[in-house]
Amino acid sequence: MLLQNTFKKKESDQKSDGLSEFTKLTFCGGVSSVTGANFLLEINKDQGTKKLLVDCGMEQGSDKAKIYNASPFIFDPKDIDILLVTHAHMDHIGLIPKLVKHGFKGVIYSTPETRDLCVYMLEDALKLITEDAKRRHIDPLYSPDDTRHAFDLWKTIPYHQDFTLFSDLGVTVYLKDPGHVLGASMFEIRIELNKKLRKFLFTGDLGNSPSPILKDTEPIEGVDYVIMESVYGDRNHEDRETRLQKLQQSIEDTIDRQGVLLIPSFSLEKTQEILYEMNKLFEDKIVPEIPVYLDSPLASKLIPIYKKYIKDYNEEAKKRKQKGDDILNFKNLHIVASAEESKSILHSKNPKIIMAGSGMSTGGRIQHHELSYLPAHNTILLFLGFQALGTLGREIYDGAKVVNIYDTEVHINCEIRKIDGYSGHKDSDHLQEFAATAGESLKKVFVTMGESKSALFLVQRLRDYYDIDAVHPEQGESVILY
Ligand SMILES: [Zn+2]
Repeated sequence: MLLQNTFKKKESDQKSDGLSEFTKLTFCGGVSSVTGANFLLEINKDQGTKKLLVDCGMEQGSDKAKIYNASPFIFDPKDIDILLVTHAHMDHIGLIPKLVKHGFKGVIYSTPETRDLCVYMLEDALKLITEDAKRRHIDPLYSPDDTRHAFDLWKTIPYHQDFTLFSDLGVTVYLKDPGHVLGASMFEIRIELNKKLRKFLFTGDLGNSPSPILKDTEPIEGVDYVIMESVYGDRNHEDRETRLQKLQQSIEDTIDRQGVLLIPSFSLEKTQEILYEMNKLFEDKIVPEIPVYLDSPLASKLIPIYKKYIKDYNEEAKKRKQKGDDILNFKNLHIVASAEESKSILHSKNPKIIMAGSGMSTGGRIQHHELSYLPAHNTILLFLGFQALGTLGREIYDGAKVVNIYDTEVHINCEIRKIDGYSGHKDSDHLQEFAATAGESLKKVFVTMGESKSALFLVQRLRDYYDIDAVHPEQGESVILY
C-alpha cells in the first residue's frame, strides 16, 4: 500500500569521518511514480540546520494515489523552512495547502509566472477535492482557508538571479528554464559544505524542446548532484518535425469523415500549445476552418497569463506575436463557459474539434463528450500526453473496447490516435543528453518522477552510455551528500 509514512526508511550513505557539514536528501514522493513530486533537503552546517522542500505534489491516477494523498507527510511540516515550487502542475503543487494545514509556516518560492498560474490551478483543485470528499463522505484534504494562507506565504524569484535562501548558512538558489510549462524552473541550490561549493540541481519536469511556444531547456553545466525526472526514460518520441503534420492529418480526416476530433487536454501548457498550432494551421490556410470548442474553464482562465508573459516565448512565437497575430485565438475558436453551453456542443454540426479537460479523462467535461462520441465510428480520439496508470485515459490508450463512464457502459468504436511529439516531457535520448550537459563536475544523478521501468532504463543508459553514476532511489529513502 502506498502510504507516505510507512515507507522503509533507509539511509544509503553514512556520514564520513571528519566532515562536519553535510546535506540529507530524502525522496518523500515522486519515486517509482510520475506524480507526487516531493523532495526534502536538510542542510547541516556548522552555523545551523535548515530544511528545504522541493515541490509538494499530489499523486494522480489510481485509488492508491488517494491513500497516499490522505496519509501524513513523512516529515513534520512545522519544521520546513522553505518550499520551492518548480511549476504549476498538480503533481508538483497539489498538496501545498495540505502542508499549510498541517503547520507549515515557512516561505514558498516560485517564479512570478508559476504563482499566477497556481492561483487558478489550486482554486480548481480545491473544487475537485471538496466535491470528491462530499461524494465519499470524508473530510476534504484542505479548506479554502488553507489555500488562501498558502498564497500569503508565497513569494517570487525571477529566472537567472542569484537569490539568497538562508543568509546565515550562505545558501543561494539560481533558477533556470526547463522549457516544460510557462514559468517552470529548475532550481540550482548552491551550498558551501566543508569549504567546497556544491550545486544541487532539481529539474522538476523537463520540456520536450523545441516547444511550440516556450524556450528550449537550458544546460546545467557545473552541477554536482541532479535530481531529475524520467517520465519517458525508456521511450523516444516520434520525430518532432512530424507532429504538426499529424495534427493537420487528424483535422483533415475529421473533415473527410464529417466527424468529431476529440482531444482530452491538459489545461496548463498543452491546451495553449495546441491552440497555437491550430492558429497557425487555420490562419495560414493550411486546413479549412472548422469550429473548435475549447471546453475547459480552467484552460481558458490561464490564457491571459500566457499573454502576460510574452518574454518567456521562443523567437518564433514572439515574432508571430509582434506581427500582430493573437497567437492563442482564431476566428473559429469558441471558448465554452457554462455547463449548458458545454452540453449544447452535442447539437452543433459536424465536423468539429472539441478540446476538454481533464487530460487523463479522470473528470471534467471531457467525460460527457467521451460518453457521446466514443461509440461513433467517425470520431477520432487524439491523445497528446502521458496517461497515468489507473486513469480512464490510460484504459482507453491501452486498448479497452468497453469502458465505464458515469456508470454507463461505453463501447469504443472510434479511432484512437496519439501524437507523442506534443508531450511536455523529454524522451529517453534527450533526457540522457540533458544529464550529460552537467559535464565533469557531476557526481551523481538521482532518477525520479517516472514509473520504475522507465526510471531503471534511464539509470542503465546513463551508466552505460555516459559513464554517469545514476541511481533510482526508493520512496522514503535518504542519502547523505557532501
Ligand atoms: Zn509538469
